[in-house]
Amino acid sequence: MQYPETPEKASKSALAAFKRLNELGVAANPINFAIWYEYFAGKNHDLKKTVDALSAGGGKPDVSAYAELYDRFIIAGANMTRDREWSDRIDTVTERIVSALTASGSETEEYGAALKTFSGDLETAGNPDQIRGLVADIITETDSMDTRTRELYSRVSKSTEEITGLRKALDDSRRDALTDSLTGIANRKCFDQKIFSTVEELLANGGTLSLIFADIDHFKDFNDTHGHQLGDQVLRLVGRTLFDSLKGKDTAARYGGEEFAIILPDTTSGGVTSVADNIRKPIASKCLVKKGSDDDIGAVTISLGVTSYHPGEDITAFIERADQALHMAKKLGRNRVICEDKRIEIAAVSA
Ligand code: GH3
Ligand code: MG
Ligand code: MG
Repeated sequence: MQYPETPEKASKSALAAFKRLNELGVAANPINFAIWYEYFAGKNHDLKKTVDALSAGGGKPDVSAYAELYDRFIIAGANMTRDREWSDRIDTVTERIVSALTASGSETEEYGAALKTFSGDLETAGNPDQIRGLVADIITETDSMDTRTRELYSRVSKSTEEITGLRKALDDSRRDALTDSLTGIANRKCFDQKIFSTVEELLANGGTLSLIFADIDHFKDFNDTHGHQLGDQVLRLVGRTLFDSLKGKDTAARYGGEEFAIILPDTTSGGVTSVADNIRKPIASKCLVKKGSDDDIGAVTISLGVTSYHPGEDITAFIERADQALHMAKKLGRNRVICEDKRIEIAAVSA
């Protein structure tokens, strides 16, 4: 995060942020404040667009949306800047190693030339004193070469260690950038990348591809009754159940809020319906108990929509179909799986 604005401009954004938080009745904690500060500072265009969309038609961002906005638009941006710095540092250290090795190469050449001269001088040397002198010179030359080689070794190994550390930090950071911090499964960004690359691969090599969309039923009521923290535990439970169902090249992601998605390459719509039902059933049959007490909370349920990719269609149309199947599952009473084929059938019946 970089805030190069003047104190006057920063105060203006901060006051506007406080005012808006007050109007919305949202706690001015650092995360919520950062969203509106960045909004009014006006440089974080993607954040502004998303907040405007959430506020469209007089609506307001749900309190639970703030943490997600913070992860997506503030932390992710700051991490990108930091990753770029790490990556530049790797380039600098690599250049340093290359120039040290290049310099050492010419020193080695000089040492080789000195050895050659020494061997020529040795052949023509006339007496033992001359030979002793020559040997002393070459010993000095060899000692200095040895010192330089040791120095080079130490410099290169220090730089290599630094690069290894930076690479690991960069890899961890890139992995974190694609992981949802609450559930530990893939996040929305990872989903967007994965669905795109999977469709590209399918178009190049053929095959089948299916998609599951899942949404927790009446989750707002659950949060209102049992609190947000317990709600977060439920999100973790659903994330883990999805993850446990994965096979082969499948990817499970938290699509946003209490919505999840699974990308299933090599799976037809027939197969995907039973995968979805095998996710739904264990969640619905789990009786939740409040930690530290015997309070029985009952079960939570999820609704799922499934569909398969029609080769050549737009990715958004594919996603939209899964979403519509999910909405149909909600409409038909929740806690069920609807496949797009059935959706069409049901739509026809109810028309
Ligand atoms: P439906 O069955 O139609 O899906 O109803 P719903 O109440 O689940 O749907 P609605 O869209 O009205 O509410 C979604 C709720 O999900 C509201 C919001 O507080 C909750 N939620 C979203 N993200 C989080 C989160 O990260 N943690 C918690 N605890 N709740 C969240
Ligand atoms: Mg829901
Ligand atoms: Mg929802």
